[in-house]
Amino acid sequence: MIKLQNFINGNYIAPTSNEYIDNFEPATGQVYSLIPDSDERDVEMAVQAAEKAFPIWSKMSSEERSKILVKLSEGIEARMDEFVQAESRDNGKPVSLAAHVDIPRAVSNFHFFATAITHFASESHYMEGEGINFTLRKPIGIVGCISPWNLPLYLFSWKIAPALAAGNCVVAKPSEITPYTAYLLGQVAKDAGMPDGVLNILHGLGSKVGDAIVKHKKIKAVSFTGGTKTGEYLARTAAPMFKKLSLELGGKNPVIIFDDCDFDEMLSTTIRSSFANQGQICLCGSRIFVQRTIYDKFKTAFVEKVNKAIVSNPTDPKANMGALVSLPHLEKVLSYVELAKEEGGTVLTGGTRVQLEAPYDNGYYMRPTVIEGLAFDCRTNQEEIFGPVVTITPFDTEEEALMMANSTEYGLQTTLWTNDLKRAHRIADEAQSGIVWINCWMVRDLRTPFGGTKSSGVGREGGWEALRFFTEPKNVCIKY
Ligand code: NDP
Repeated sequence: MIKLQNFINGNYIAPTSNEYIDNFEPATGQVYSLIPDSDERDVEMAVQAAEKAFPIWSKMSSEERSKILVKLSEGIEARMDEFVQAESRDNGKPVSLAAHVDIPRAVSNFHFFATAITHFASESHYMEGEGINFTLRKPIGIVGCISPWNLPLYLFSWKIAPALAAGNCVVAKPSEITPYTAYLLGQVAKDAGMPDGVLNILHGLGSKVGDAIVKHKKIKAVSFTGGTKTGEYLARTAAPMFKKLSLELGGKNPVIIFDDCDFDEMLSTTIRSSFANQGQICLCGSRIFVQRTIYDKFKTAFVEKVNKAIVSNPTDPKANMGALVSLPHLEKVLSYVELAKEEGGTVLTGGTRVQLEAPYDNGYYMRPTVIEGLAFDCRTNQEEIFGPVVTITPFDTEEEALMMANSTEYGLQTTLWTNDLKRAHRIADEAQSGIVWINCWMVRDLRTPFGGTKSSGVGREGGWEALRFFTEPKNVCIKY
């Protein structure tokens, strides 16, 4: 049995409680590792280590920090296969997905921010005849980074890379459901020459150790990705302490398909945007609106393609989809299929658990599911399911499509398929979301602002936005 440990002050150590939590392998439904059940005492140790390290790390030149972060990114690359296997085993995603998306992106995150910091510049404001202002951007101090289970190392590194590049010391917590690659990262950081105490990684329950990170007075900023309800709680807790907060929360993203789109490209991309990572990506499009003129053609072609999807154990090279992340999550997703039926929906395909052969017979597998016949404002179409379930709905006019697309409390991303340039501009302008993809999906440039509006979050990650979040601006005014 693998026993994970916290990484504090450059050392792997047991949690103060000496208690551990079972970690299940989604592919088999069996416990395969034990996770430290950390609490506020471990957070205190991590904060003390970070406090000691801060003067060293923050006063290092950005070029020196950059070199260490480049080495860190190369360190993950050198152990690519180990990280890929670990991510797939912990999360249930196909090995091929971890190999092509998750781990390469974690490598890129570190490399991107390692180099970005050497180009980061601040503003100056000239006052005619009077003087000049310039903005100093200093690291904040100790920051907290809390990430979810769906893209474990990808999202963990998306936060800690800019935080470290900007000169902060970090106390970070991955999801207790998928801690393994974050655990491996500690050693890679040490091997890259990162001073002890700069990066501290704690494991355990969100409600215990996560909460203690958010509540610690010396942690001045928290970058969080996770569910909207958790985000609400974090905001309530952190606001009275005037902490800087970045919240990347849930989504219920629309896909709007017009009859003038490139049909084949749209179809294959819509399969991915619906079911990649078992539909457990915050950017997946789960409400598909199709112009009525091509609704039947789309429905037939889409369902036919979905039926060909191979749900298999994550190590099967043919697997298009692996296991969902946990039994409670699988049960939640299946309960939404029942809700959809109660709300008058028709399940066109899927909707059921998949039983594989031993040793995968207790794994959390589900058929990709397509539902039609639901009102745009029913619960199935308004609440985040975060699994391999999409609904399809016809529309007649652009106005109607936009109204339905914008009707949820969420606003993370909108995907649009059309070759009408003017319409594309109009909808991009009116879509209530932080991201709009036109004739594509998940095309990512790490320089762009990333995040959502409405209940999908507050603040933006990516590029300068992240480096600005992790620095404190100070205006210096000099009179002539
Ligand atoms: P949760 O909100 O349950 O958890 C996210 C992280 O917060 C986990 O590490 C969790 O720990 C921790 N946590 C839970 N409670 C607290 C607390 N009280 N104080 C501090 N930390 C806490 O989300 P999930 O892990 O279930 O992730 C799925 C959600 O994430 C979906 O809603 C999805 O849309 C969203 N998401 C958003 C993205 C975006 O960019 N907008 C990207 C990816 C996902 P633990 O695991 O131990 O509970």
